[in-house]
Amino acid sequence: MTVITRFAPSPTGLLHLGNIRTALINWLYARTHNGKFILRIDDTDQERSKDEYISKIKYDLEWLGIDYDDTFNQSSRFERYREQFEKLKADGRIYPCYETPEELERKRKLQMASGGKQVYDRTSLSLTDEEKRGYEDDGRKPHWRFLLQTERLKWNDLLKGELDIDLTSLSDPVLFREDGVPLYTFSSAVDDIDYNITNVIRGDDHTSNTAVQIEIINAIDKNRITFAHHALLKASSGDKLSKRDNVISIDSFRKSNLEPLAILSLLATIGTSQSIELKDSLNQIISEFKLETISTSPGRIEIDVLNALNKKQVQKLNFDDVSERLKNIDEKIDEKFWNTIRSNLETVEGVKQWSDIVFDSKLIEAEDKEYIKSAMELIPDDPWDENTWELWTTAIKEKTGRKGKELFLPLREAFTGMSHGPEMKLLIQLIGREKILERVKT
Ligand code: GLU
Repeated sequence: MTVITRFAPSPTGLLHLGNIRTALINWLYARTHNGKFILRIDDTDQERSKDEYISKIKYDLEWLGIDYDDTFNQSSRFERYREQFEKLKADGRIYPCYETPEELERKRKLQMASGGKQVYDRTSLSLTDEEKRGYEDDGRKPHWRFLLQTERLKWNDLLKGELDIDLTSLSDPVLFREDGVPLYTFSSAVDDIDYNITNVIRGDDHTSNTAVQIEIINAIDKNRITFAHHALLKASSGDKLSKRDNVISIDSFRKSNLEPLAILSLLATIGTSQSIELKDSLNQIISEFKLETISTSPGRIEIDVLNALNKKQVQKLNFDDVSERLKNIDEKIDEKFWNTIRSNLETVEGVKQWSDIVFDSKLIEAEDKEYIKSAMELIPDDPWDENTWELWTTAIKEKTGRKGKELFLPLREAFTGMSHGPEMKLLIQLIGREKILERVKT
């Protein structure tokens, strides 16, 4: 049997690290089992779903290298959901309910006050045809609930082990709204059947949904899906991640020029028993993936860790890997430049700061004027090479008697305007004699 997994985001916001982690796990599970990975867009709620987010979701996945074998939007399947709805209705598994939200809220408060279970009391289940007609004549339209029949639902969760959910503590779920729109619990179950999904891997906030969905699936067909629920990632503060939390969206990471491989390396290992480290490639991530190493306690996102992984990745990139990107930043950046600068960068795009320093003709006002003046009197002739810096600074040392930081730091500041950066012996070769003479104002 071919393994088929899916990632099913609702296009109501940007994908964040937690969402993408679920996508990655499903993708890795499919890829390591020679299976298929489907992208399903959960857009039945047309008011909240936005095309803009659908495009962003697809772009995020593509940018990260998470490819899918098939994709569809739930909004294209309303007819199919209606068909399955009619089937459940004919089987007596769904029933119309006429309570208004206010009435339901009142019931819930009463249950709370009397200390009882806060579950729907099934009043509408016993309505006579006449009573139903009465409601309809009053202009009320029904919403539809699924009649849960199992008391306890058990399954062997690939991550959490044996689970045993008490369905009597849950309300009969609403599957169709008054306006005929199916709700997630139902459309997801129908799609998982129709697309022959073999493995549903998702956050453990869905555990009780799973119990309900297994019962719905069994009412329509027969459940063949193996479920796995992973712990959700948390923010470093310990808070839940939210779609409104744009700082950790993939979109914002892309805008801050983080490398896809750094993000994927973090997501493949965070919240697992594997150590967090930079991977060489997506292939390495695939070959090291093991579902069972995913922990059932939540991993916390530390942005510093992500930045450190990114820095490592930038330093590993060869000129050929980035030459196209560098062209867009500054055409003058060549291989020698890149190799000199990359160890100082947090992001590839950070190279711009250094190309400005090396190629721009800005004047730098030296602080230590007298000292810089005497140093400039000793400036070696062209051509400059590997040894130029050593020769020059030895001569300065002899003349001024300075050494260490006192000798080097004012020179670095006068030539680059920065107090740190790549090795000066390399950097001055990039800047060149002419530009240094032009630049230094004493
Ligand atoms: N649209 C649902 C969500 O984003 C999908 C959950 C699932 O079935 O995987 O939570």
